Amino acid sequence: MRTGIIETYRQYLPDFADPAAPIVSLCEGNTPLIAAPRLAPLLGLPKNFRLFIKFEGMNPTGSFKDRGMTAAVSLAKRKGMQVVMCASTGNTSAAAAAYASRAEMKTVVILPRGEVALGKLSQALIHGAKVLAIGGNFDDALTLVREICAEYPIELVNSVNPVRIEGQKTAAFEIVDALGDAPDFHALPVGNAGNITAYWRGYREFADAGKATRRPRMLGFQAAGSAPLVLGYPIEKPDTIATAIRIGKPASWTQAIAARDDSQGLIHSVTDAQILDAYALVARTEGVFAEPACAAPLAGIRKLAEADYFAPFADREYTVTATLTGHGLKDPDRAVKTVTSGIVEVDGERGAILREIGF
Ligand SMILES: *Cc1c(COP(=O)(O)O)cnc(C)c1O
Repeated sequence: MRTGIIETYRQYLPDFADPAAPIVSLCEGNTPLIAAPRLAPLLGLPKNFRLFIKFEGMNPTGSFKDRGMTAAVSLAKRKGMQVVMCASTGNTSAAAAAYASRAEMKTVVILPRGEVALGKLSQALIHGAKVLAIGGNFDDALTLVREICAEYPIELVNSVNPVRIEGQKTAAFEIVDALGDAPDFHALPVGNAGNITAYWRGYREFADAGKATRRPRMLGFQAAGSAPLVLGYPIEKPDTIATAIRIGKPASWTQAIAARDDSQGLIHSVTDAQILDAYALVARTEGVFAEPACAAPLAGIRKLAEADYFAPFADREYTVTATLTGHGLKDPDRAVKTVTSGIVEVDGERGAILREIGF
């Protein structure tokens, strides 16, 4: 029976070396690695490239945040904390609220007012979190949370909590386990930059442990209106439809740059229009419905392919993995708005329906 990422990868998680210590889990992880043979050529990948999607929307609360949250809430509980707190663009709050409920702890979440997808908000609310919406953006919310948690007995569960990164690195382990080796390239969206930090750590550790013969080049993608790591300076008013990566001052800035440089990878930006194109494309061609932020790495792969970035890698078969970080149902409004054909009103009779569908 599956029991979640801590039990599965305990030997690589020093904080959880003691199997007798209780953990708080919702059986997160073990998410599918889905081959994407139709999408790959549409993104312009050369024929010798195989593309796989790591679909993190299949976690219990619908995003990869569950991997870090099982670790963070388990440690908070062990320390005897009663309250967890986070700033969130939505998914962190959903995960925190679910895991804290399970641990009989309270959750306080600070959100940027009016900027959080309804699906995510509904999760925090139904799990009983105290939801506080502020006038500022995510970066302002995180500053407040850090100040408060430093002074009061409240556990900070944003990815600045180092055990979150530890939990999240298990996604890289799963990819290596599924492929039998590390991929050659790994693409993912970058917001606060905890996840790119976590994947790079996971890939390094599995290479060091002899489980993989190589480490991938890390390909990080930010939204053009919210691309501090690409521009090299913080953005005061980050702007993008991809709310999960609307972050102007990434907390794991230096680690993200290290992941980029140590892996000989890159961090680039893609426009909202490119993100939305890729968002609809992966849903239509591969049947994977992910939230808009998740399409950033797909849009990014397409942009790189157009610039012939992959052309020099022609001597053998190459593997690209892309993490689709959260489920599309988190933000159904966006899906409905993106599909311009929309819903057609017809009379409730055979003739009208058959005419409409071309028979
Ligand atoms: C949190 C989140 C991100 C950004 O991850 P970081 O670790 O902050 O870079 C991307 N996509 C989704 C769906 C998220 O919830």
